[in-house]
Parts: sequence; C-alpha cells; structure tokens
Amino acid sequence: MPLAIAPNIRIILIGTTHPGNIGSAARAMKVMGLSRLVLVSPKHFPSGEATALASNADDILKNAQVVETFAEAIQGCGLVLGTTAHARSLPWPTLDLKGAAQKAVAEVGEHDIALVFGREKTGLHNEEVERCHHIVTIPTSEEYTSLNLAQAVQLMMYEIRLHALEAMNTPSMPEQAPRDWHPEPPEKMEIFFARLEKALLHVGFLNPAQPKRLMQRLRRLFLRARPDENELNILNGIASALLDATPKHTQASSTPTPSTPSTTKEPE
Ligand code: SAH
Repeated sequence: MPLAIAPNIRIILIGTTHPGNIGSAARAMKVMGLSRLVLVSPKHFPSGEATALASNADDILKNAQVVETFAEAIQGCGLVLGTTAHARSLPWPTLDLKGAAQKAVAEVGEHDIALVFGREKTGLHNEEVERCHHIVTIPTSEEYTSLNLAQAVQLMMYEIRLHALEAMNTPSMPEQAPRDWHPEPPEKMEIFFARLEKALLHVGFLNPAQPKRLMQRLRRLFLRARPDENELNILNGIASALLDATPKHTQASSTPTPSTPSTTKEPE
C-alpha cells in the first residue's frame, strides 16, 4: 500500500545517465510505497530500458516530473537531504540513513521533503550539496563506498517505510499466524501427554526404570509447536495406534533392531 506521506516526499535524481537506473529506482520506490519521482535533466528519458526495469512501477515513470535545474526540483521543500558516498572538503551536517528517515518522517506533516540522489559517475556536485540541509551517507566498506544509484534509492526508501510505519504504529509485517489457527488449550494437551506416555511405555520406548527426562523433553517440544485441533487429533491418533500395536517384547521374533532402543534414549 502506498504510504499516506508519499505525495509529500520527492525522490530527486540528478543527471542520471543510465535509464535503467531510473526504472530500477522507480521500482524501489513503489515497493516501499513512495511515488513522487523528479528527474533533473536525465540523459535519456522516457526510455524503453527505464520502463522495462520499472516493471510494475511504470506508473511512477509516467507521473515523473522532468525539470531542467535542481532549484526547480526542490522548490517549496522545507527539508532537503542529499545522499553522497563521500565526505566533502567543507564538512556539511551529516545524518546516517536512520537519522535521515526519522527526520523526514517527523517533518513530513509540516512541509515537502526532498531526497536527492546524484549522478552515477560524479555524484552530487558541491553547489548541489550546498543547497542541502543535510547530507546522508550510507555506511559501506571503506574500500568501496559507492553504491549503485538504484540500490542507494532502495535503502533510503526502505528506511523511510520502516519509520513511517513505526510513526503510524503499524507493524512492518502483517501478523504471521494464520487467522484460523487456534492452539489447543492445556487440558487437551494434558490428555495427549498422558496418552503419549502410556503409548511409549507400551511399545517399550520409555523405560520406567530409567525414564530420564524423555517426557519433559517431549512436553517442551509439543508445547513449543502449540498444535491446533487438527494437529492434536493427528498426534492423539499416532499415540492410539502405538497403544494398539503389539508390544515389541511380546512379538514372536525379538531380534533387537538398532533403531529401537531398549532403554530410554536421552542424553545425560
Ligand atoms: N562516484 C560517485 C558515486 C555516485 S553513485 C560519488 O563519488 O559520489 C550515485 C548516487 O548514489 C550518489 O550520488 C548517491 O546519491 C548515491 N549513493 C551511492 N553510494 C552512496 C553511499 N554510500 N551513501 C549515500 N549515497 C550513496
């Protein structure tokens, strides 16, 4: 779902050379619920390559605003955050990705926000950085600090989404438990444990002289699984089938098989 704040956040790409990066950036935006793309003097746009890489985010490309200058792109914005891989000779107020997303989400109700990304080869020029309130640097290996443009956009969009959802008190993932899943209550589990214990004694897997902690471990295992009604029916069915089985020691042939323990197998 698009974020409610999406119309107030502009993702600005300056002088993009590879149209594929524009398409990938659009896709990165859409999957995180952002939509407002502004392109400053892109080298090739519109472009089939951009559309191909945008995949289902081609609506973002169709609605993208193309302008000639950075000044036009940031017109009316109350907060301009410029992303850059490296520190500047004149140190500029810097935020990390998380800090930048927090700030953008906190201020978006007040004014439009600009998130600015530079050229593939030369990044943001100094005169562009000098129009930004803060620069944002994504921490990387010191050896190689420069991310692909669309990947930098993706990371920024992800952080914005996380903070926007947090601000709305919405979990970033829907509840994992299926709606129709109800774990069986303790009294039903106890009936199963009693039957299981009886069954394990019956088949000789649980040695009453040396029970070790087999039943405790099995209780822990099944309580961790929190079976629902169907699952517990299956488990009860297995225990009943074991109870119906002929105990091993009364069978005609009593050749021991290596997989069947004669004493309760359990680590000390
Ligand atoms: N050689 C260029 C790299 C440009 S990469 C330079 O030195 O700036 C294209 C764009 O991706 C950058 O302008 C910036 O907007 C973004 N980007 C890449 N790596 C980044 C990083 N580590 N932190 C923040 N933004 C980054």
